[in-house]
Amino acid sequence: MLNSKIQLSLNNQVNAEFYSAYLYLSMAAYFEAQGLKGMSHWMKRQAEEEISHGMKIFNYIYDRGGRVTLTQIETPPSNWKSPLEVFQESFKHETHVTKLIHDLVKLAQKENDIATESFLDWFVQEQVEEEASVATIIDQLLLTQENGASILFIDKHLGERKND
Ligand code: MG
Repeated sequence: MLNSKIQLSLNNQVNAEFYSAYLYLSMAAYFEAQGLKGMSHWMKRQAEEEISHGMKIFNYIYDRGGRVTLTQIETPPSNWKSPLEVFQESFKHETHVTKLIHDLVKLAQKENDIATESFLDWFVQEQVEEEASVATIIDQLLLTQENGASILFIDKHLGERKND
């Protein structure tokens, strides 16, 4: 059985993952409106990934005999100044999620819940990848100084993202 503190924190993390999905879907909607179909595609994939993160935790809670309680998902922002700003916000959000995951690991350690600590390993590594992939896109946008042609080039490249 999960103890109540860990159950509450895991439930909060389900909400955070679904909020991430909602945020990335909002970013996809922004890119779609700008005609940047590749960036929109990338963000839709990102949103799907976040839903799968939320479901991984959802299923884990039941594997441990716990109970999922869904709570309200906050309204995400819907407008940004530029593609660079969108990816910078996305990076900022991922560093926030990384902190939430690390706090969960520390709680699991404190509560001596070895199964939860081990379950969270996958998320710790996933966050390293999430931050790295967004950082690369930010570097590319900064390197090309966000001129129109380079945005279209990066858009085309991001449109080729597969299910990963
Ligand atoms: Mg996630």
